[in-house]
Order: sequence, then structure tokens, then C-alpha cells
Amino acid sequence: MRTKLSTCRRKARYATEGEAEAAALRFALPLYPYRCDRCFAFHLTSRTKGKRNPSIPHPIP
Ligand SMILES: [Zn+2]
Repeated sequence: MRTKLSTCRRKARYATEGEAEAAALRFALPLYPYRCDRCFAFHLTSRTKGKRNPSIPHPIP
């Protein structure tokens, strides 16, 4: 996945995949860590490559 520089710059960066996963748990959305090819750190994305997200409504507190 090619990351846009603008996307990279506005996203939070995580040094490791584990750190990104831990951060993802704090969000009420399913987020997946991916390695950025711009900064070589990890970012979180809600997009799943090739998979369709079932539209399950998330209860918002
Ligand atoms: Zn990046």
C-alpha cells in the first residue's frame, strides 16, 4: 500500500506494530496497523485491503 505523504504527516506514528495495536484498542473502531513506506513507522487504518467491512453499527458512548 502506497501511503500519501499528506496522509503520513497527519497520522499518528507508532514505532512498532505492537504499539500501534495497543493504541488501536483505545478506539471504538476496528483499526489495523500498517507499515508506512514514507516514514517506516506504523500508522493505523480503518481500511482492510481486499476485505469488505460488514456494516455493523458501532455503539457510540
Ligand atoms: Zn508515515
